Amino acid sequence: MINLLNYNQPQLADYFASIGEKPFRAKQLMRWMHHFGVHDFAQMTDIAKSLREKLTADTEITLPNVQLEQVSNDGTRKWLIGTDDIKTGAASSIETVFIPEDDRGTLCISSQVGCALACTFCSTGAQGFNRNLSVAEIIGQMVIANQSLRQEAGYDLLPAGERIISNVVMMGMGEPLANYDNVVTSMHIMLDDSAYGLSRRRVTLSTSGIVPAMDKLKDDCPVALAVSLHAPNDALRDILVPINKKYPLKELMAACNRYLEKAPRDFVTFEYVMLDGVNDTVEHAHELLALIKHVPCKLNLIPFNPFPNSGYETSKSSHIRVFRDILMQAGYVVTVRKTRGDDIDAACGQLAGKVLDKTKRSSKRIPIEAVA
Ligand code: SAH
Ligand code: SF4
Repeated sequence: MINLLNYNQPQLADYFASIGEKPFRAKQLMRWMHHFGVHDFAQMTDIAKSLREKLTADTEITLPNVQLEQVSNDGTRKWLIGTDDIKTGAASSIETVFIPEDDRGTLCISSQVGCALACTFCSTGAQGFNRNLSVAEIIGQMVIANQSLRQEAGYDLLPAGERIISNVVMMGMGEPLANYDNVVTSMHIMLDDSAYGLSRRRVTLSTSGIVPAMDKLKDDCPVALAVSLHAPNDALRDILVPINKKYPLKELMAACNRYLEKAPRDFVTFEYVMLDGVNDTVEHAHELLALIKHVPCKLNLIPFNPFPNSGYETSKSSHIRVFRDILMQAGYVVTVRKTRGDDIDAACGQLAGKVLDKTKRSSKRIPIEAVA
């Protein structure tokens, strides 16, 4: 059975062409599935009955299962979504988080079950890689969140021009550029006017720095780019973000500039997790300034969110302030990320789901002398 949620509009048009239907059917289907959130073919009133019957016989619109929905004291919401592995029967789930703010509502979406890149301060990374999510599972997170938030707000459909989810960040579990095709197809649906109609600046993809995929993304779907830097030199980044051994900082900085070539008014957001005594000293701040000197960027400092046996501690707030001020005095826009959804473990890097632990890696403690 074909799950139509796996298709973006051009793919849907190809499907309709293959069954002798006109391409505009794709637009109608996108609107029903995504804009209106209607998944019962019988309710798709502007589609001929014979075609609705054919769609019912040959296709489905199937969302992943919501196992749990939690609401934090600060309004942050988290969905635990089951993606049980049919072949192995292994339980595995991913998480989606909605963060309401005064001027926006941001949905944080997962792209993989687990992650193979094993950054040492990340709980998703500590669990190893299980599998890539399908398009239906990635865009399905948006469908599920939209349904639930609309219901909560008491709307069937929001007044024209209003969106509860105004921004999307690909910053949940997994490395989005390691599931390239499915992530790009899903982002096409986010940007599609018949579906969610988000502008490309309101969709942010966060990557640990897979250089060839960054180069491809700028042509295929040039959304806002966030890069997980976390260290100002290769020796330290090799430890914290091991993919750095393959794509070291010099190459990464060059790739950021290539990404910006097409959209000169854009900037990259560098994310920098603040780990006590590891990467948060005055020297590190100056080294960071030298590293990013030629890249138009903003900086986002993320106080480390602890998880059991990580071996790291969050930087002291006084150290974070000093670090931030050095960057600001050099003229950069710097934000320090507020922790949201603490009481439901929805903060950055705490998304764990119930991923099958294939690696059984032990403690991630790194010796301080190795990074000093
Ligand atoms: N794989 C992608 C996107 C997911 S992680 C990436 O690495 O960019 C989203 C952000 O949260 C990244 O910047 C990541 O480094 C950061 N992060 C991971 N674990 C964290 C933790 N325990 N505390 C704070 N930030 C963390
Ligand atoms: Fe993977 Fe990102 Fe976590 Fe690194 S920080 S292990 S790339 S999810």
